[in-house]
Amino acid sequence: MANDSLVGLDGGVDGYGSAIRRRENTAGRDLSYPPLPEPLTIPVYDNHTHLEIADGEYPLSYREQLDRASSVGVRGVIQVGGDVETSRWSAAAALNEPRMLAAVAIHPNEAPALEEAGALDDAIAAIDELAGQPRVVAVGETGLDFFRTPEAGRAAQFRSFEAHIRIAKKNNLALQIHDRDAHEAVIETLLRVGAPERTVFHCFSGDADMARICAARGWYMSFAGNVTFKNADNLRAALSAAPRNLLLVETDAPFLTPLPYRGRPNAPYLLPNTLRGMAAHLETDVSLLSAQITANTELVYGRWDAEPVTAAHDVPRPDQAPPGRLA
Ligand SMILES: [Zn+2]
Repeated sequence: MANDSLVGLDGGVDGYGSAIRRRENTAGRDLSYPPLPEPLTIPVYDNHTHLEIADGEYPLSYREQLDRASSVGVRGVIQVGGDVETSRWSAAAALNEPRMLAAVAIHPNEAPALEEAGALDDAIAAIDELAGQPRVVAVGETGLDFFRTPEAGRAAQFRSFEAHIRIAKKNNLALQIHDRDAHEAVIETLLRVGAPERTVFHCFSGDADMARICAARGWYMSFAGNVTFKNADNLRAALSAAPRNLLLVETDAPFLTPLPYRGRPNAPYLLPNTLRGMAAHLETDVSLLSAQITANTELVYGRWDAEPVTAAHDVPRPDQAPPGRLA
């Protein structure tokens, strides 16, 4: 999450999938959704998106988002929460949607205010409980953000990050890290507390040296649309330095829209633009890179169809089952 200001919306997980937040930052932005890219030949997953956040002049529901994604070869998404409410929404939506798995956490920039209100422990306990739910495959986004959070809030951030690392390990889930201007402290914390087996730097923001450090530890690096930005030579150097078996791709939608649509609403269906930008920089075939990233993604999170997906309203009560049918 790029931390624009967000406002709450009424809504919840229903058949039409209304979002529960709205992106407030509209100033100077073109609010129309970009056109669909050419479909990918080999499908990929968007391993970090926020479909709970409505954006654009005419926001899309999460099902419309996923239909568009499917039409261009984006096979599924990890829907990421940033507080208790959005984490609950993510876990509930994933239960009813085969193309969605969920990640749950308190965002690092939410932790200080919760701590100040005396509510951080309860929030972490709620995340711990959600982490045990079916189709929750990651704890995230958690981590450290020294860009948005001043010195005074950092103790709460550290405490929250450490608790999230423990929750991930306890539940054998992947960890999705938000690291903004805090590379050294994030690495130090991971090493001190002990990183989960599958650790992902979401929206990787380090340079080539940082990529080598992650590679040495077997940590995954997930690149977002900003890897296509003109001023992102450091990110592209990191991409070149990262081993292919540790690469992931994401949108972080509705933020970080890839070129040539920077500033417009982002969506999982725009993942091919980022992937093609990465392939061009790596001078490799788009399909080869897609196949590699899809394999990596399934190693980290499991398969999207690993568990049966049944909508609660579709399950007949036992007394409604036809006679002779096996339970
Ligand atoms: Zn995010």
